[in-house]
Amino acid sequence: MLRVVVLGAAAGGGVPQWNCGCPVCAKARADHPELQSSQASIAVSNDSEHWFLVNASPDLRQQLIQTPQLHPRSGHLRHSPIAGVILTNGEIDAVAGLLSMREGSPFTIYAHGRVLAILKSNSIFNVLGEKNVRRQPIDVDKAFEPALPDGAPSGIDILPFEVPGKGAWYLEGKAHPAGTEGAGDTLGLRIADRSSGKYFYFIAACARVTDELRSRLAGAPLVFFDGTVWRDDELIVAGLGDKTGQGMGHIAMAGDHGAIESLAGLDIGQKMFLHINNSNPALLRDSNERETAELAGWQIPADGTEITL
Ligand SMILES: [Zn+2]
Repeated sequence: MLRVVVLGAAAGGGVPQWNCGCPVCAKARADHPELQSSQASIAVSNDSEHWFLVNASPDLRQQLIQTPQLHPRSGHLRHSPIAGVILTNGEIDAVAGLLSMREGSPFTIYAHGRVLAILKSNSIFNVLGEKNVRRQPIDVDKAFEPALPDGAPSGIDILPFEVPGKGAWYLEGKAHPAGTEGAGDTLGLRIADRSSGKYFYFIAACARVTDELRSRLAGAPLVFFDGTVWRDDELIVAGLGDKTGQGMGHIAMAGDHGAIESLAGLDIGQKMFLHINNSNPALLRDSNERETAELAGWQIPADGTEITL
């Protein structure tokens, strides 16, 4: 049985974002605390004993406190059920949480060479000493099976694949520590339980849906998909910034070639948006945008939502 816990569904900054007074953030701070959401990450297990995180958000410490599945087992002075962290990109909202895992417990970081190069070039990540924290490169289109702490195979099969996207924001206009452009800056994952064959997709960043991606996702029991913005120019129209969704490497939910339209009619069991920016009106439960998304079969999961496959 594959268990998936949504640790957070928000994009960088979370909901509310520390410096934001947009309608969603203002409501989340005041009379609608149910709108609060931490930054996107999920935890996966197929034995309910060992868990793997997909990305380590800056909210990880808070997420671990509010997720009993990830608490240390009783009777142990030092313990964590977290056996590994799989990184799908090098953005701050995907890697900063690693710094909250620095107290000497062993685990393995699985990431593409381009993301590992970013970690290596930032000496602050050296607090995760290689004696305890192994860094295991993963390759595009090459399935891997993360290991349990004793080295035994986990029985979870993970296939990373490239999706249209961008390198990390903070590297824009700068030399990438891994050198010239190459695939691997933005990955989607197909995560499967080897014994049952059950699987789901995790795609928290994606600039557009290609025909190849549509065929890949057709018939999937569960898909987590990039829900950063409702419309491409949302931040500009709201006066919150000067970047479009596309400019940040994120597809819009709505509109021609948006995620809702592009992933319609694919017989996907459950569709969940992840990495939702606080500017996105679909976060408001009584909004027309939320209704449109839900009528198209999409859900916006609350922190702590658990799905079993
Ligand atoms: Zn806001």
